[in-house]
Formats: sequence, C-alpha cells, structure tokens
Amino acid sequence: MDRLAIVVPCYNEEEVLPITVPELNKVLKDLAAKEKISQDSFVMYVDDGSSDRTWEFIVSCHEEYEQVFGLKLAGNVGHQFALTAGLLTAKDLADVIISIDADLQDDITVIEDMIDKFHEGKDIVYGVRNDRKKDSFFKRTTAQGFYKVMAMMGVRTVYNHADFRLMSKRAVEQFSKYTETNLFLRGMMPLIGYETDCVYYERGERAAGESKYPIKKMIALAWNGITSFSVKPISFITWLGMMIILLSIAAAVYAFGSYLSGHVVAGWTSLILSIWFIGGVQLFAIGLIGQYIGKIYIEVKHRPRYNIETVLADEYYGMDNAKAGKR
Ligand code: UDP
Ligand code: MG
Repeated sequence: MDRLAIVVPCYNEEEVLPITVPELNKVLKDLAAKEKISQDSFVMYVDDGSSDRTWEFIVSCHEEYEQVFGLKLAGNVGHQFALTAGLLTAKDLADVIISIDADLQDDITVIEDMIDKFHEGKDIVYGVRNDRKKDSFFKRTTAQGFYKVMAMMGVRTVYNHADFRLMSKRAVEQFSKYTETNLFLRGMMPLIGYETDCVYYERGERAAGESKYPIKKMIALAWNGITSFSVKPISFITWLGMMIILLSIAAAVYAFGSYLSGHVVAGWTSLILSIWFIGGVQLFAIGLIGQYIGKIYIEVKHRPRYNIETVLADEYYGMDNAKAGKR
C-alpha cells in the first residue's frame, strides 16, 4: 500500500496548528482504515523560521503522535521555498505527497478524491477552488485578476489552483530536477508533463490566525510568477518603442508640412512634453530589463534555496514508534 505524506508549510501558525494537527491525523486514520493508504503515512509540518512557538508545538506533537513529522528550516524563506523543502524531504520517505496550507482553507475532505485519482494513475492532482465566496472581496478580485494576467502573459497555470495538490513520488522526483531559485510552483508543475487531473472544492475561511500573505507578498509572488515564466513584458516594450518611433515620424512629417505651408508650430510645451514622455518610456524599459537581469543575477549565484536545521521523522533516527511510546 502507498505511503502518503502531507506537507504543511507553517509560518507563525501557533494559533491554527492545534486545530490542524488533529484534523489531518484524522484524515490519515480514516484513509488508512479504508485501506487507501498505508498505516505509516504521515504529515510533515515545515516550520518556515517562525518567530512564535510553532516549532515547539510541532515537536510536542511529534512526541505525542506517530504520524506527525517535522522539518525545521533555518530562517524564514517564504512559502514557496518552505513547500519545496517539505516536498523534497518527504519524497524520500513516501510514495505520494499532498501539499496543503496550515490554515485549513482548503477542503481536507477532497484529499480522499485526490488519492482515488492517484490510484487511477494520475501523477498530479490539482485542488481547484470553484467557489471563493468566503474570501474577502479584495482577496477574490486580486487573486482572480492575477490568474487572468498570468494567462495573458502566456503562463500556463491551472485557474484558481493554489498550492493544494497531490503529486506522485516520481512527479516530485522530476520536480526536484528543476533547480531554479525563482520558484513559482503552480507554474512549474504543469511543465512536468505527467498525467494530471483536478478535484473541486469550496474555499473556506482561515481556521484561526491571520493571513501570512499581505498585499506586498502577493504582488511579489505575482510579479515573480510573470517574470519567471514569460518574456512578454520585454517584447511589449520593444513594440512600444517601435510605436513611439512611428509616432515621432508622423509628428515630424506634420511639423515639416506646416513649416512648408508657412505655419511654424510655435512653443516649447510640446517639446518638453515629448522629452519627458520618451524619458519616462526609456526609464520604464530599462527598469523592466533590469528586473530580468536581476533574476539572472540571482539565478547564476545558485545559492541553496533553504537550509534545513532539524528533521523530525522516525526514519532519520531509526526509532521504533512502539518503543517510543506513541499513540
Ligand atoms: N507561509 C510560509 N511562509 C511564509 C508565509 C506563509 O510557510 O513566509 C505558509 C503559511 O503558514 C500557510 C501558507 O503559507 O500555511 C499560506 O499562507 P496564508 O494562509 O497566510 O495565505 P493566504 O491563504 O492568506 O493566501
Ligand atoms: Mg490561507
């Protein structure tokens, strides 16, 4: 039977984990009882450098429940890296891996459907929100606008899918070969190319605590998604430059024509405006190209994407659960 690993990135989640841990333990127990996954399946909580008592809580749960594993990162590296750390660590211990946020906004009852699709032979199963009524108006419109802009930029993503997904071991194995530093997981997974499917659910509210994705982080994620996957912005400015050249030629023809017919176009306003305009366009263009050069700079350094401080998983210690006196 297949061993399931659920990977949960946690950043300052001490409020929600006391709710999440028993819920996910129950999911594992139910699925194991139905013989859909093996008894030794586990949940790996990844502590993304939390400053509260998240890690202490994970440690105490690991001591109490045999299905709770932990991974502590040295410092806060952000959701995408924390998730990658979890996936790459869990893949060595499990046959199938599901990633989910700590706040239970994603419906854990569809985990069973995901496993069923996995048994039907799918390698990646995306969790798709078909209803965001419970998200705030702001979150909903910005998030949906984001998926539309991504599509416009030619980035293949699954509409309304975040990072709630199932991946087979071989899919994660394949993903581990994508060693880029500018990570945008939901854009990368469709590149893997194995057979995929979707399960649909209604997105709920955060079970407790506050969003760890303020508007600044959301914009950074969106911008990173676009610039990591698409060079359309650069071709856009090339076109813009060409348009402006054509426009200036037209203006020159007009001015010269007026001059020939005896009407000199007077004044400096139009002159200074055009200088400001073209100056602005140039700065914008250079800035945009700079963004891509910045990415190349980050990418060539090829620094480690995360550093692991501690792994709490029985395999790592060769410890026997029964002997350790766990439930
Ligand atoms: N998260 C993380 N590192 C960060 C920020 C967030 O690991 O720097 C985790 C967080 O603990 C949660 C998930 O990413 O499990 C999604 O965050 P959140 O629910 O706050 O985002 P939202 O649902 O509001 O977009
Ligand atoms: Mg959330």
